[in-house]
Amino acid sequence: MSETLVLERIETNLARLRLTRIGEILAETARVCEEQGKSYLGFLDDLFEEEVARREQRRVETTLKISGLPFIKTIDEFDFSFQPGLDQRKVMSIFDLSFIPRKENVIFLGPPGVGKTHLAVALAVKACQAGQSIYFTTMADLIPKLAKDHADGKTGKGRSYYKSALVIVDEVGYTPIDRHECNLFYRFVANRYEKASTIITSNKAFTDWTELFHDQVIVTAVLDRLLHHSIVINIRGNSYRLREKIEKGD
Ligand code: ADP
Ligand code: MG
Repeated sequence: MSETLVLERIETNLARLRLTRIGEILAETARVCEEQGKSYLGFLDDLFEEEVARREQRRVETTLKISGLPFIKTIDEFDFSFQPGLDQRKVMSIFDLSFIPRKENVIFLGPPGVGKTHLAVALAVKACQAGQSIYFTTMADLIPKLAKDHADGKTGKGRSYYKSALVIVDEVGYTPIDRHECNLFYRFVANRYEKASTIITSNKAFTDWTELFHDQVIVTAVLDRLLHHSIVINIRGNSYRLREKIEKGD
C-alpha cells in the first residue's frame, strides 16, 4: 500500500476515534520524528501528549465559560505592590489549593475595588486548571435560586452550588436579606460545612453582618460554620479602580 493511502487510512481511523489533534499533527510529527531518528515509542508519545494537552485545554476553557465567572484573571495579573498592607505570602500560600481537600473556606473582606473578586476568580481559575469543579455566583443571584429550590420542595443537592468542590459567593453584604433568606443562606453554608470549600467576599466586617442578616442567632450560626475552618484575608488598601484618578491627583 502506498504511503499516501496508509496516511489516509490512519486519518480516517483517527477521525473515527475522535483523536482530532493527532489527526492535525500526524503528517508533520511523522516527518520530524523520521528526520530526528526518533523511536516508535517517542513518536507515539509526542502524538498522545499533544492530544491530551489539547483536550485538557478545551476542558478548562469550557468549564471556565460555564462557571459564571464575571471575568477571567489570574494571580499573575495581581499587583501586590498596589496593596502593600496585604500579606503576599499568606495570599500566595492559598494558591497551593490545599484548602480544597481540607474543605476550608476562604473569606476576602475589604472595601470596593481592592481586588476581592479578582483574588476569588484567580483561585477559581487555578482550581479549574487543577481539575476541580467550580461555581461562581453573587449573593444577589444565589438567594433567589435557593428560594426557588425551597419553594419547589427541592433540597438543591444536585445543583452546582451545592456539589462543586469550590463555590464562590461574591458580594455578601451588598444587599440586606430578610429572615427567610437568612435561613436559606444558613442552610446553604451548613450543607457545605466540612464537605466542600466556599469562598466568600464581603465589603462588610463580620461585626456588621448582624445588621445585614437581621437575626443575631442565624448570623452567629452562619459565621460559626463559615469560620470554623477558614482563612480570612482582610484587605484594607485603596481601590484599584480609582488608582488612575489617585495617580493623576484628581
Ligand atoms: P472588589 O471585588 O474588591 O470590589 P475587584 O477584584 O473587582 O475588586 O477589582 C476591581 C478591578 O481592579 C478588577 O478589574 C481587578 O482585576 C483590578 N484589580 C484590583 N486590585 C488589583 C491589583 N492589586 N492588581 C491588579 N489588578 C487589580
Ligand atoms: Mg467584587
